[in-house]
Amino acid sequence: MTDKSAVKIMLVDDEPFMLKLLGRMLENLDFTALTSHTNGRAALDACAAAGPPDVILLDLNMPEMDGIEFVRHLVDRHYAGSLILVSGEDERMLQAASKLVHAHHIRVLGHLHKPVLPAALAALLAKWSPPASGRARAAQATYGADAVQTAIANGELVNYYQPKVSVADGQIVGVETLVRWQHPVDGLVFPDQFIGVAEAHGLIDDLTRAVLAEALTQTRVWHDAGLALRVAVNLSMDNLVKLGFADSVARLTASAGVTPAEIVLEVTESRLMSDLRAPLDILTRLRLKRFRLSIDDFGTGHSSLTQLRDLPFDELKIDRSFVHRAGTNATLRAIFEASLGLARQLDMEVVAEGVEDQADWDFLRQAGCDLAQGYFIARPMPAGDLPGWIETWNARRHALCPDLS
Ligand code: C2E
Ligand code: MG
Ligand code: MG
Repeated sequence: MTDKSAVKIMLVDDEPFMLKLLGRMLENLDFTALTSHTNGRAALDACAAAGPPDVILLDLNMPEMDGIEFVRHLVDRHYAGSLILVSGEDERMLQAASKLVHAHHIRVLGHLHKPVLPAALAALLAKWSPPASGRARAAQATYGADAVQTAIANGELVNYYQPKVSVADGQIVGVETLVRWQHPVDGLVFPDQFIGVAEAHGLIDDLTRAVLAEALTQTRVWHDAGLALRVAVNLSMDNLVKLGFADSVARLTASAGVTPAEIVLEVTESRLMSDLRAPLDILTRLRLKRFRLSIDDFGTGHSSLTQLRDLPFDELKIDRSFVHRAGTNATLRAIFEASLGLARQLDMEVVAEGVEDQADWDFLRQAGCDLAQGYFIARPMPAGDLPGWIETWNARRHALCPDLS
């Protein structure tokens, strides 16, 4: 529990009346270490003189220095605190401003519409926590090529699996394989910290082979235990360069005693590819061999529509940035529904990623999405945890799909 009276909060708004109103609300919430300024210049001077606050409540529309310009000055001063944006502008405008601040690596607790409601203010401040320690930040560092190579060779990579469930009846349909690195010193390391390194240093084929081999063995184990699961594996575009790749995937699959139809290959275009001939050749041949192809992170890539035009995908995964909160955000809903419509016309199955709460789930039910994946359903887990999760999920499932008998 943080001591609210110790959290230093700065209010910046050109209207003295707003400052007074917000100040009173904050005091009622027991936040009492407050300073107020009617323009950005005075606020910056105060930061320089008395040190930066923990949280700044910032009005976007101010006559002399507007909120966006103020943020630029905060960046120059390496401001490490949090920000709450306050404005009478519409939701999309506030969201765009939040994105921009976030891109500057300043923590945005959220935004508030004027007139500000005390409950909304309290909810945002409840998200505040003291800045991470230097140690936690160090753990975010990526690793060198040698370390990643050793990890692959020593078998330190482990597969986690995240369920994909049917939205209509809650049935578990498959899992996505997500690689982790069980680092001997740093503990569990996430893919963002080593996939890029593997791609840049020619290690991605070895990495994919290790992940795929373990996933195939696991698929067979589940299959033999009566669990018919489709198992998805992520491919990197850098895997799709050597023409022999399709054959080596097919060989590995056959030798594990698994049929290609049980395997889903998820592909993201993380960067622009200049020559698409090899990826097209490889993916088309994999599809001919009856592997299922999935277009991952749909809506965020460099040319998702081009990929859709050129490749025979079976599945489309709508990126989580268009799923979470789509029920209440008109822009997200429009993008989600357009993607769903597109997939329907192309006869593809649709997976919504990043389903984080009941509202997301309810939205998918109403939108008629096929499959859902996300923390609300299950976090990625080691293979051994899956049977236990299925038991708890079956207990939850009926409440989430009320029309089931
Ligand atoms: P992805 O394929 O889009 O996988 C989904 C990511 O979203 C996973 O992150 C998953 O843990 C996370 N996620 C799942 N549900 C939720 C949710 O409800 N909310 C939020 N905020 N996140 C959720 P993870 O495991 O850190 O993987 C990140 C990315 O790394 C993956 O994105 C994938 O592109 C890549 N990756 C993972 N494993 C492999 C691999 O074996 N090979 C390659 N080439 N890439 C991999
Ligand atoms: Mg994926
Ligand atoms: Mg994805």
